[in-house]
Amino acid sequence: MSQAAGANVPQKSIDPKLFTWPSNKPRLLGSKCNNCGTTSFPAQASCPRCCSEDVETCELGTRGKLWSFTIQGFLPKSPPYAGTETMETFKPFGVGYVEMPGQVRVVGRINVSSPEELAIGMDMELIFEPFRTDEDGTEIISYAFRPVA
Ligand SMILES: [Zn+2]
Repeated sequence: MSQAAGANVPQKSIDPKLFTWPSNKPRLLGSKCNNCGTTSFPAQASCPRCCSEDVETCELGTRGKLWSFTIQGFLPKSPPYAGTETMETFKPFGVGYVEMPGQVRVVGRINVSSPEELAIGMDMELIFEPFRTDEDGTEIISYAFRPVA
């Protein structure tokens, strides 16, 4: 008997500090400075703009605009890359900065493989997907972006 993909597969966040997980509405976690209003991602212990330590965790929105991008056309060096692809199974993927409301730019994977599918300024939405599967079958979940259909 085979299981449907995604059914009852254990899942784990790649980093619990990056986003709320598990959740019906997962959100990226940033930090907002109570002194100058600067939002940071990932969350910081102090403000990168004014150095205040009066910062609090905040949830970011789920849509933004593509600010810059490239296509990763070859297997990144591992480590630091934590994917489990090989030269044979690797597929190109996008990497870009998405400007989220609140003026924070989030760097992340983009789930397209061709630069023709992307354009600076286009609307992007946040998605959560398995980044890799551990040896025990646990799916490691990370965030990514895709163009808004
Ligand atoms: Zn500040």
